[in-house]
This record gives sequence, C-alpha cells and structure tokens, in this order.
Amino acid sequence: MEKYFSGSGGDMIRNKSMVDQLRRCGVFRSERVAEVMETIDRGLFVPDGTPAYADSPMPIGHNATISAPHMHAMCLELLKENLQPGMHALDVGSGTGYLTACFAVMVRSEGRAVGIEHIPELVNWSIENIKKSKAAPLLEGGSLSVHVGDGRLGYPEAAPYDAIHVGAAAPEIPKALVEQLKPGGRLVIPVGTYFQDLQVIDKKEDGSLSVKTETSVRYVPLTSREEQLRG
Ligand code: SAH
Repeated sequence: MEKYFSGSGGDMIRNKSMVDQLRRCGVFRSERVAEVMETIDRGLFVPDGTPAYADSPMPIGHNATISAPHMHAMCLELLKENLQPGMHALDVGSGTGYLTACFAVMVRSEGRAVGIEHIPELVNWSIENIKKSKAAPLLEGGSLSVHVGDGRLGYPEAAPYDAIHVGAAAPEIPKALVEQLKPGGRLVIPVGTYFQDLQVIDKKEDGSLSVKTETSVRYVPLTSREEQLRG
C-alpha cells in the first residue's frame, strides 16, 4: 500500500502508473481521456497522507469524498464529445477541483470550465490544488473558475453548457440544470437516494430529452449545506 502515498502532494510518475493501470483494466475508450488524467496529477487533489493513486474514493472532509479514479474516467468518457475545445462545462459539487481541472484542460483556454461547490473551505482548497496543477494557467486566464453556491441552481452566468457533471446524488434531476443545458448538451448525474443510477441525459436539438442509465453508483447526496454537515 505504501507506494500509493502521495507524500509531497504530487508525483507524476505514480500518477502515470495509476492511469496505465486503468488502461490495462480497459477503463478508457479514448486516449484523450487517459491523457487528461495523466496531465492532471491526482496526488495534488487529495488530503496529505491519503493514498492518492489507489483506485478508490477517499474522504476529503466535510462529509464529502473524492470519487475513485475509474469513476472520474467513466464520467470523462461519457462527456468527452461535449468537452471539445471551446465548449462550456459545469461541474456541480466540484469538491477537490480534480474533475473541474480535467474539464478545463479538455475545453482549453477558448472554452469555459466552471466548478460550483457549497462548502466554502472546499472551494478555497480546490483553488489551491488547481494552482499547483497543470490547469493553473487556465485558472489564471479565467477559462477555469470555481464558485461557492448551491449547485442545484446551476451557474447561469456561464450557461448554456455543452457538458454538465454532477458529483453528488440528487433525489431527482434539478430543473435548473436541464434548463442550463445547451441543445446537443449532455448531463451526467447520479439520481436516487440510497441506491443510485448514473443517468446520462441528452438534450436534443429540438429541446427534447433522452435519458439512459449507465450504471449503479454510490455518491454522497446533493443536498443543502446544513444537511450535509449534520452528516
Ligand atoms: N466530484 C468531486 C467531489 C465529489 S463529493 C471530486 O471528485 O472531488 C460531492 C461534492 O458535492 C461534495 O464536495 C459536496 O460538498 C458537494 N455538494 C453536495 N451538495 C451540493 C450542493 N447542493 N451544491 C453544491 N455542492 C454540493
């Protein structure tokens, strides 16, 4: 287990080994997703002393967790066509900032990647994490930003979005998120309470929706700050 510990906070070689391991497991359907996970060092986004490169979720405080690397890979795969250079992406419940940073690298400086998270301490920490990562210039340039707020309301300022990811389980799909999706856009969201479905919602050009279930998942709830901190 010791080889997984992040020590100084980041280690590109161990990060690459993690991605190679996911490659061997057949998690990736495209090199583009593998490459972004090589670019953004996961070790910079977990608390000190956490086994950063192990394929499991980890606690990040405030009753929140960073998702396992294979889940991040799956969500990036599901969203990759909607994360082309120049596109707009929203990461609801951005937590550590890891996935928001991956989105920002994929949509590049001509696009827009926004994280929204309701715990101010996590927002501040995620910004510090991003500053240490290869996504730092995008944060500085303004194409990547993270905000404190209730993600159930989305982030209208940078809408409409080509891609919306929700990193916490909603009892039902928040209306505002569907409204902020562009025609041709895709929303990936875990829906349910104890047992959850990872749903993929596509908004067609005529505004109608197609909904399919990708897999079963366990995420922390998308809820109010008070409810979350009560545990
Ligand atoms: N995807 C992130 C974090 C996942 S944990 C990562 O992998 O790092 C889910 C996150 O959703 C937590 O950070 C939690 O604080 C946040 N969250 C829960 N309900 C929320 C809400 N209503 N608005 C914004 N963020 C919320």
